[in-house]
Amino acid sequence: MSDPTPGIHHVTCIAGDPQRNLDFWVETLGLRLVKRSINQDDPGTYHFFFADAEGTPGTSMTFFPWENMAQGKVGSGQVSRTAFRVPEGSLDFWEDRFDEYGVGYEDRVERFGETVLPFADPDGLPVGLVAVEIPDDDPTVPWTAFVPEGHAIRGFHSVTLRLADPEPTTDVLRAMGLDEQGTEQAQGDTPGNRRTRFAAAGPVGTYVDVLPTVQSGRQGHGTVHHVAFQTPTDEDQQATRKAVRSLDVSPTRQIDRHWFRSVYFREPGGVLFELATNGPGYDSDEPLDDLGGRLVLPGRFEERREEIEAELTDVRVPEPPAAEADD
Ligand code: ZN
Repeated sequence: MSDPTPGIHHVTCIAGDPQRNLDFWVETLGLRLVKRSINQDDPGTYHFFFADAEGTPGTSMTFFPWENMAQGKVGSGQVSRTAFRVPEGSLDFWEDRFDEYGVGYEDRVERFGETVLPFADPDGLPVGLVAVEIPDDDPTVPWTAFVPEGHAIRGFHSVTLRLADPEPTTDVLRAMGLDEQGTEQAQGDTPGNRRTRFAAAGPVGTYVDVLPTVQSGRQGHGTVHHVAFQTPTDEDQQATRKAVRSLDVSPTRQIDRHWFRSVYFREPGGVLFELATNGPGYDSDEPLDDLGGRLVLPGRFEERREEIEAELTDVRVPEPPAAEADD
């Protein structure tokens, strides 16, 4: 028996300078670096995974810092904003923190009855924080090295897809088990471009918003490379793969990504989708307490460690300020 996707698994984006990327996502936003690895298709570059304290599915924002790539432009066929959940009442904290760290942010907007604080990361990647009630039994585990528990980011809220022709994409979302929640002329969107919200079954990374657009985009720094959805088991993944295959998309065979197993396909609107299993997980090759502490080279790359390390730019992972010593 297989189930429809509970929601987003991870979102992978393109950054420029790896140190600047680490500093922002670890120190300013307070996510945990749960895996420091390489791009398995381009081993001379990093792949950073930022998530909650335990790398829970639905919390990991990952980056390819491709220093030589040009600045991208968000447009049709792309994820135009990735939003994260924060506890209700914490947006004042975040605005103060952004002022302190010199992060530009926009005015808060109301969408589907929720308040969103839109901002961008140092590469210009459009992101946002959405204030939500976090239940006591929430599956995410806050990482509190830089941001107090009551304000910490608690995984994904949503992605917004910009599409020239939304219809074929929404058929794919329905085939994956997402339900249409409603359509509105949302605050902050171009007048006439009505936003339609789809919801998955799980509590984290639940929503996909679809927004029509005529502007074309270009992949580069500050854009999303792909969005992955949770298919917890291999059976779930096979069933979803089969469901989308009937809609004229061409999913790959299952690929072993070491911390999860993946199937990729480009949905009809042009966005690269991935279906990822929940296991083996980020703690399958290093202890939970040590996640992100060292460069992890999956499988066959370990024997080339010296050569790979020589090619990578040196980076320093931000450390939380030491507690004041009693003397
Ligand atoms: Zn991925």
